[in-house]
Amino acid sequence: MVLNLYPWLLPDYEKIRQTFLNGRGHHALLLRSESGIGTEQLAKATANLLLCQHINAAQKACGQCHSCQLFRAGSHPDFYLLAPIENKDIGVDQVREISEKVSQHAQQGGNKVVYLQGAERLTENAANALLKTLEEPRPQTYFLLQSDISAALPATIYSRCQPWVIHCPSTQKAAQWLMEECTASAQDIAIALRINYGRVLSARDCLQGEMLQKRLILFTQFWRFYQRKDPLELLPHFDKEIIFQQLDWLISFLSDALKARLNISQHWLNTDFSKAVNQFAERQSAASLLRAYRIMQNIRSDLATINGVNQELILLDGLSKLLINKETA
Ligand SMILES: [Zn+2]
Repeated sequence: MVLNLYPWLLPDYEKIRQTFLNGRGHHALLLRSESGIGTEQLAKATANLLLCQHINAAQKACGQCHSCQLFRAGSHPDFYLLAPIENKDIGVDQVREISEKVSQHAQQGGNKVVYLQGAERLTENAANALLKTLEEPRPQTYFLLQSDISAALPATIYSRCQPWVIHCPSTQKAAQWLMEECTASAQDIAIALRINYGRVLSARDCLQGEMLQKRLILFTQFWRFYQRKDPLELLPHFDKEIIFQQLDWLISFLSDALKARLNISQHWLNTDFSKAVNQFAERQSAASLLRAYRIMQNIRSDLATINGVNQELILLDGLSKLLINKETA
């Protein structure tokens, strides 16, 4: 039995599988995709295929051999994961350590697989160190690199890999799958897919985590904040666990409001809140909405990049700026 793959990953997996079975498998695959569609699963299924020691009659990983069992248990000694630790960039020491390990014989006597998650997070030195390893392919050693499709990778790394673009499922296929996975209504599924830009697993998490409800509460409170002008009242409605999600909701709300103000009716994200967005937009100038949009984006990037500063402080500071913006506009 192969690892269960999400249905939209199957065509790409089949193509990759065929290249290996035809002896044309590349020693370094670069899987590029949006996040939130399960590309990790595709990488792991490919690793499993490469590590299985009894490719069965259907030419798939058998799921039975010692290698498959070790892999499934997450303890295969010839499978190496290279990924950001505690959300820090992947450093040169991490790459060297793995390069050193794969230069030795495979402990199970078969292939060795390095799975590099978040290739765009390699530091420059780490990328150079990895390049050396990729330039001198060792027998029975495979690299599976995964990166965000919108992220830039060093051209040198890119040129050493066989690139694969892994696509999001169509809206229709994604909705069908969500219908079977979740208990949500067709309408909520459509909203969840839209506000998650078609990333089907993010949409599932959104539905299962009752995020649509949380989004409604946040929009209501944001509206109240604009009327009552009290940042301290809005502050408790931000939740550390989902703060970036919440800021993205507000950024998209302001972006839609700006579109409303400029009479642009296309590409709205929050179409389920179109009445509220229109009412919100009516009370402000386009310049004021644009400033608010930028302030929210700054809050988001400050929270993502500045470590060690109180989250509440950054939020409070940003929200206060929104109010000054409103009064002078
Ligand atoms: Zn096997």
